[in-house]
Amino acid sequence: MSLAEKRLYYHDSYCTRFTGVVTSCREAEGRWLVRLDQTAFYPTSGGQPHDTGRLGDARVLDVFVENGEVVHATDRPLPEGEAVEGEIDWVRRHDFMQQHCGQHVLSASFEQLYGMDTVGFHLGAEWVTVDLDAEPTWDQVAEAERLANQVVWEDRPVYARFVTKEELAALPLRRAPKVNEDVRVVTIEGFDHNPCGGTHPHRTGEIGLIKVVKTERMRGGTRLTFVCGKRALRVVQARFEAVNELARRLSVSVEDLPAAVEKLSQEAQGAQKRMRVLQDQWLDLRAEALVRRAAPEGGDVQGGPWICDAVEDVDTADALRGLAQRVTGREGGATVCALAADTGERVSLVVVSRDPRVDAGTVVRAALAAHAGRGGGNAKQGQGSAPLVPGTDASTVCETVRRVLASLA
Ligand SMILES: [Zn+2]
Repeated sequence: MSLAEKRLYYHDSYCTRFTGVVTSCREAEGRWLVRLDQTAFYPTSGGQPHDTGRLGDARVLDVFVENGEVVHATDRPLPEGEAVEGEIDWVRRHDFMQQHCGQHVLSASFEQLYGMDTVGFHLGAEWVTVDLDAEPTWDQVAEAERLANQVVWEDRPVYARFVTKEELAALPLRRAPKVNEDVRVVTIEGFDHNPCGGTHPHRTGEIGLIKVVKTERMRGGTRLTFVCGKRALRVVQARFEAVNELARRLSVSVEDLPAAVEKLSQEAQGAQKRMRVLQDQWLDLRAEALVRRAAPEGGDVQGGPWICDAVEDVDTADALRGLAQRVTGREGGATVCALAADTGERVSLVVVSRDPRVDAGTVVRAALAAHAGRGGGNAKQGQGSAPLVPGTDASTVCETVRRVLASLA
């Protein structure tokens, strides 16, 4: 029996029920590997994933080719030598047929319009990709998408056949076959000839719609993500819903969305700028207040006090650092400033020092080590954090810092 006779999907991609005789069944890693004298189950190959379905009462979990034979991995054993009825999951198969045939049409469109070759293909659970050996502009992609959909609307016949070497030599194939014998050529009438072992619909109209979703540059080529048929409808519906929702929230029409988003973005930038100015001013005032009410923790009070404080109104490590730098940077400010604050799920600690006796990084490391935290820095500035847990908060971290500073004074 030839290869083509054993694989029913080669001649009829719409065959969902068939009867085959079990020629072997063996257990492997909790599954059973079943071979049949003939099958309609498509094995993973050529970028198209395998079918699922059932053989008798057994569920078919995987289908692959081993030593030139189709192997069905099932969840239970089947009796050797007996006939079994098979049924493939048609929803899954038909989805693959739409995506796979859509790829033929899209790849041929790029080839015919721009001479760009397809060098890779992947049919995933959600998206389909082709890799082109060139870098088309987005306008070129849109033009190829138009041509591909034109071919869909023309509802051209699609047929597959095994060809002789002589027939093969006479065909203008889009790419060379990967096998030497049993070459199967898939023809989209008047449009494309391509060697392929996959499953295709009878006519291009069944692809429904071909929609390119995005392009990514990669290694001198381009990866194109697209969807066909039912997937394309789902994607278009989801995008419409998202865009309509955005327009509703911004109280503008869909057509006015780009302008509305641009305006929002400019307003946000302006607000951010104003916020930075205000935060600077606020940190200056905050630093002044800290220095004024400073209870010196030691050091040379004439030269400037050491300040160690837990602050409540600073919620980022960046702002905390800005505050400590201001406290030590001011005329008559502190020579050492250690500030701790609860920032989210951690306690942040910043130490800034211009007293040669106090190495800021060392103080941070020593204090945080006592609270299962991490930190570091140099002699002038150190920072780090510890998890905010019972027994560790900004106040207790400050107490630890005071003890470390006292040992240096
Ligand atoms: Zn194909």
